[in-house]
Amino acid sequence: MQKRKSQNRKRKHAKHKALTRSEMMQAVHSEDTKPEIIVRKALFQAGFRYRLHRRDLPGTPDIFVQKYGVAIFVNGCFWHQHGCKLTTRPKSNTDFWNNKFDTNIVRDIKTQHKLSLMGIRSATVWECSLSRDLGRADLTKNCADSTKNCAGQGMSVEMVLERLVDFIRSDEETIEL
Ligand SMILES: [Zn+2]
Repeated sequence: MQKRKSQNRKRKHAKHKALTRSEMMQAVHSEDTKPEIIVRKALFQAGFRYRLHRRDLPGTPDIFVQKYGVAIFVNGCFWHQHGCKLTTRPKSNTDFWNNKFDTNIVRDIKTQHKLSLMGIRSATVWECSLSRDLGRADLTKNCADSTKNCAGQGMSVEMVLERLVDFIRSDEETIEL
């Protein structure tokens, strides 16, 4: 009995080790989230060429279109506290989470400022804008706040992507979709 128990533990341990370190890191960072891939594909089809996750630029933009000097951030609504339906705040460990979210929000503002000083224009595309299930109507509450740029409200996913393409070719400073 005792012996079988120990064998089971060994097997369990082996199973855990099967994941390579890089696989585990990928699972944690999830840089290739689906919303980001939607944007990448649309830009590629529109003829743009870009670099991904340039760590030498402020905020490590998800996508950087060198030719137009545009950094694109595809933001998860929860982590970056968009204010939409996906922006829940955990009920436990509230101090920890509030602190973390506030840090994220401040960091996003600083990043945009630093990029602007470098002459790089920036676009933020929210996860919910790229979801066909959510519907932009859910953003009404957030967009009542006039300090927010809610250009993406009421747009279909296709319209959001078209607007992004227009922005890249324009000389507009920033956009939030
Ligand atoms: Zn959102």
